[in-house]
Amino acid sequence: MTPADLLTRRKLFVATGALLLTAPEGRSAEPHAAAHAESAVTPQAALARLMEGNRRYAQGHATHDHQDAGRRAALAAGQQPFATVLACADSRVAPEIVFDQGLGDLFVVRVAGNVVDDAVLASIEYSVIHLGSSLVMVLGHERCGAVKATIDALDGKGDPGDADTKIAALAGPITPSVRAVPAGTADRLDAAVSLNAAHAAAAVRAGSPPLAARVAAGRLRIVAARYDLDDGRVTPVTPEAA
Ligand SMILES: [Zn+2]
Repeated sequence: MTPADLLTRRKLFVATGALLLTAPEGRSAEPHAAAHAESAVTPQAALARLMEGNRRYAQGHATHDHQDAGRRAALAAGQQPFATVLACADSRVAPEIVFDQGLGDLFVVRVAGNVVDDAVLASIEYSVIHLGSSLVMVLGHERCGAVKATIDALDGKGDPGDADTKIAALAGPITPSVRAVPAGTADRLDAAVSLNAAHAAAAVRAGSPPLAARVAAGRLRIVAARYDLDDGRVTPVTPEAA
């Protein structure tokens, strides 16, 4: 496949995504989809809002705001999520729940192992450029099965039952993070989880010149974090998220 083919595929995806994400014909068009959107909150405020929501959730004080019919009605004509989260598809790591957010607050992209491919990157670009999100958080998590499967495969202990599946496709982008874990690390899986989230955040920056330009201008932050399955807390794994 040539670079031109890839570009065409990507344009098609973005065009299709815009069609799917904007209002149906005959209804008012989504105001933030037509042009490049300005963020309603700063990247720092967006990160603080996310982390405060996680504190509420982890401490058992979730407020469950923005989840009622009034919020649904207010959002029917358009959305302006303040943050974008790329998370694993793991059933225990639902971003709206662990950050105590509601409808219209988060633009969530989920795929096993929170890996970045063109479709994921295009979705993130859409949320930032057209919807005005000012923060992208890659959220890895404790005991991630996709990272564990990659470690097992590299150790020659892969599941033979996966041979005829596409599951191995997840191992490609995760492998560099597993290999980067220093020898002798006590918890190899957890170290690889953090490295994999940081790697994905770097891949978003490196893969999108428009997003990288926003980061350089201070209009966007791209951070990586780790979710703890035991206590529900999200902690940064890169200096940018501190
Ligand atoms: Zn996972």
